[in-house]
Amino acid sequence: MAIMIERHTGIQRQTDEQFGLECPYCSVYAHMSPQSIPDFDDLVISRPKHVGLVYQCDACSAPVFLRFAIKQFNPDSVELYRNFIELERPKERFQFSYLPKDTEVLFREALACYSNNNFNAFASMCRRAAASSFGHLGDSGKLRAFDEIIAAQHIAEIDDDSFEPIKRVLFDAGEEEKLPILNRAQAGILLEVLKDMFYQCFVRHGKLTRAIKVRRFFVTERNGGVKSSA
Ligand SMILES: [Zn+2]
Repeated sequence: MAIMIERHTGIQRQTDEQFGLECPYCSVYAHMSPQSIPDFDDLVISRPKHVGLVYQCDACSAPVFLRFAIKQFNPDSVELYRNFIELERPKERFQFSYLPKDTEVLFREALACYSNNNFNAFASMCRRAAASSFGHLGDSGKLRAFDEIIAAQHIAEIDDDSFEPIKRVLFDAGEEEKLPILNRAQAGILLEVLKDMFYQCFVRHGKLTRAIKVRRFFVTERNGGVKSSA
């Protein structure tokens, strides 16, 4: 499917297939409609190697910036390679407020690496985020975290060979250069496993204790300010 910027009609695709992306603003996988297309005459004069196009997300109307490499200049059209670079990637989300402060800082940076497709920088930051969290979980914190990721492996039915690099990233102590090299698929598993571990160890605890505190508060209020032992 070629993408062409035509002299008279603007952008054209050689199929009727609609163009969809995960929107970096609303995180919905939505159709994208062309919003701002470079001027054909200007391109022919300056003959750049790349062009920037702005699409509009059909779900939230936000502008989405994409960069395409130019394949060739024709008399009445400019052909673009179909692969493009998303200048803003969807952000990975997490309930960061439940994490210890230093773990939060490290995990935010880990997710920023992941969103930018830097999967091995992501792995290194996951190790640092995990290591910082163990100390906050008490004496047997690392052991408890390990039990959580093994439980996640069984729930998600991930085989031992695929799971081995994930365990090594999170739990092997020692030199950074001995970290396994992760591809996109492995980084995706690491992301979900570490999110689940943090959820089980921090978010669940934080949400539950907060909810129970609120219940107790209302019982106290109903009893006319007399403290309930419940
Ligand atoms: Zn959107």
